[in-house]
Amino acid sequence: MVTEIARKYLRKDKFPSIWCAGCGHGIILGSLLRSVDRLGLDKNKVVLISGIGCSGRTPGYVDFFTLHTTHGRALTFATGVKIARPELTVIVVMGDGDAAAIGGNHLIHSARRNIDITAIVYNNSIYGMTGGQVSPTTGQGYYATTAPYGQFEYPFDIAQLAIGAGATFVARGSSYHVPMLDNLIKKGIEHKGFALIDVITTCPVNFGRRNKITQDPYENLKFVSNIVVPKSKYDQMGEEERKGKFPMGILKEEIKPELTEVYRQKEEEMGVRYEV
Ligand code: SF4
Ligand code: MG
Repeated sequence: MVTEIARKYLRKDKFPSIWCAGCGHGIILGSLLRSVDRLGLDKNKVVLISGIGCSGRTPGYVDFFTLHTTHGRALTFATGVKIARPELTVIVVMGDGDAAAIGGNHLIHSARRNIDITAIVYNNSIYGMTGGQVSPTTGQGYYATTAPYGQFEYPFDIAQLAIGAGATFVARGSSYHVPMLDNLIKKGIEHKGFALIDVITTCPVNFGRRNKITQDPYENLKFVSNIVVPKSKYDQMGEEERKGKFPMGILKEEIKPELTEVYRQKEEEMGVRYEV
């Protein structure tokens, strides 16, 4: 059934999508579209930007202004768009490798600057499109094509990385807890400043299949539902219980001057104005 939201926001001629059957990416896209719709944003004033990878295909399916850029660089393009046209709503979607490996430096500097961009990380703990290589968020003990004996390095916690770098809104959701994810993305877009939403999600083909979860989409969603815990419950858990689990909900929310506003203020003080 084609819903009203799909009719309104999807580029129907681009379907079927390239995503594998049962991939979590479509669930996150659904949350993103519902959030934009609930906020009543003009779709001609929303810019959706991606890097490379399975997540990188998202903008191609959506009738906003869209940019499909290079691996790890989506935030740099987004920074340019937002500085030039601060009135636009700028949203970035990234994979975990895209955001925290090749794009890690851009992520921390976007967070540090507090530029008003909403960054959504499709965190499935694997490089999906390139065939299942280990990513910076692959947990210890999980298998990947480049970790045939199990991953033994310490993984990144992307939400903690963003908090440490100065992001002013940081949340974690999952593709299993959809109403909550809708709400977190909506709040992230509403937030004035750099917002990051780490979405724990599934890659049934490259992660599930290699990690005895199987390729079954439901089994993969069940796996996700077991590793995320509401923040209020997580805060009560002991160190041992917390192992392999992630707190879910709003992890940080702070009001701080936003970069494009500071930038315009400086222009006024100096009597210069760069028009685009
Ligand atoms: Fe989704 Fe994984 Fe397939 Fe990519 S490879 S579309 S992340 S299931
Ligand atoms: Mg990935």
